[in-house]
Amino acid sequence: MSNHYTFQTHLLHNQHKLDPTTGAVSVPVQHASTFHQSDIDSFGRYDYARSGNPTREALEDIIAELEEGTRGFAFSSGMAAISTAFMLLSQNDHVVITEDVYGGTFRMVSQVLVRFGISHTFVDMTDLEAVKKAIRPNTKLFYVETPSNPTLKVTDIKAISELAKEHDALVFVDNTFLTPAHQKPLALGADIVLHSATKFLSGHSDVVAGLAVVKDPELAQKLYFLQNSFGAVLGPQDSWLVMRGLKTLHVRLEQSVKSAMKLANFFQDHPLINQVYYPGLENHPQFDIQQRQAESGGAVLSFDLLNEDIMRTFVKNVKIPVFAVSLGAVESILSYPAKMSHAAMPEEERVQRGITNSLLRLSVGLENPDDLIKDFSDALDEAKRSNLIYDRG
Ligand SMILES: *Cc1c(COP(=O)(O)O)cnc(C)c1O
Repeated sequence: MSNHYTFQTHLLHNQHKLDPTTGAVSVPVQHASTFHQSDIDSFGRYDYARSGNPTREALEDIIAELEEGTRGFAFSSGMAAISTAFMLLSQNDHVVITEDVYGGTFRMVSQVLVRFGISHTFVDMTDLEAVKKAIRPNTKLFYVETPSNPTLKVTDIKAISELAKEHDALVFVDNTFLTPAHQKPLALGADIVLHSATKFLSGHSDVVAGLAVVKDPELAQKLYFLQNSFGAVLGPQDSWLVMRGLKTLHVRLEQSVKSAMKLANFFQDHPLINQVYYPGLENHPQFDIQQRQAESGGAVLSFDLLNEDIMRTFVKNVKIPVFAVSLGAVESILSYPAKMSHAAMPEEERVQRGITNSLLRLSVGLENPDDLIKDFSDALDEAKRSNLIYDRG
């Protein structure tokens, strides 16, 4: 109906732009758990809200359109979406998965799926030869997350998808960091796109939600069966919150990406910063792939300070960002991966992956970037001052 629109317009003018019964410009929140059936032999469109709820369905339709898939599914969290999608696998199947995958996914694969006889190999997905070596006769799934967290490594979605097709395996892509506004994995050959809608899609740090979009209608039917069987569906109020957030996705991301680029340059030029990880920078090792498959480097970057003392003074003195877990919000969020997202990883393995004790991750929000730069600059100055005193003392 509206496929000729650009993404920006599509966010507002999609099939749920108006409520057909009232003309309301916001999708009604339907709380009913059950629906009256007027015929004993043939039920209406809705019977029970786990199996189908019109508010949730509106969100599912919208995300399917935006990701250019055939069908969308809304879950009670990103992990519920990811875990339900994993249930497409069976005993004795094998997963090739990116080694710097989201912590919750790492836990699901390494501590839960193994109990059901589903094995895995963690690989550096930026290294296609390593990926090829990890393939086994029973490999049924390639699991990609790009850019990855927190060192923002970029995986070539198209190359992995081609490899997967050769082996009759599926490709799942966690698209949380870029969203369909800036990256469309299904168009690049993936089979299922997964989201923590808790992050950029809803964007306001006020809802926990997950989404999945499937390209092939037959596979979509299988995922629907699992969504209904496992039952980790998203509630109507939360579905509405995600739809409300989605309307401003384009402008939010555009602004945050612009600021992230400015900040990446600022950090890169600062003497107290060892290294900046941001796929929007030309010196990023996979800059060309990112340029090819995505619209931008995204709104998340990481930076490694000279040492842990400097990092600690910096965090103590910085005023604007919230210091917290999570990302993709209107407010900037500063995280400490070593103690937050990657606390469960053994230190040696963590440091080997670049997640040092002086690495910080920043999800750039909607503050004026000049205010952020001033705040960071002042905090770094303070870190320098107190560290000099510390050295002398
Ligand atoms: C947060 C996150 C998840 C998990 O989503 P929840 O909504 O917290 O369950 C999965 N993948 C990525 C990349 C994330 O950032």
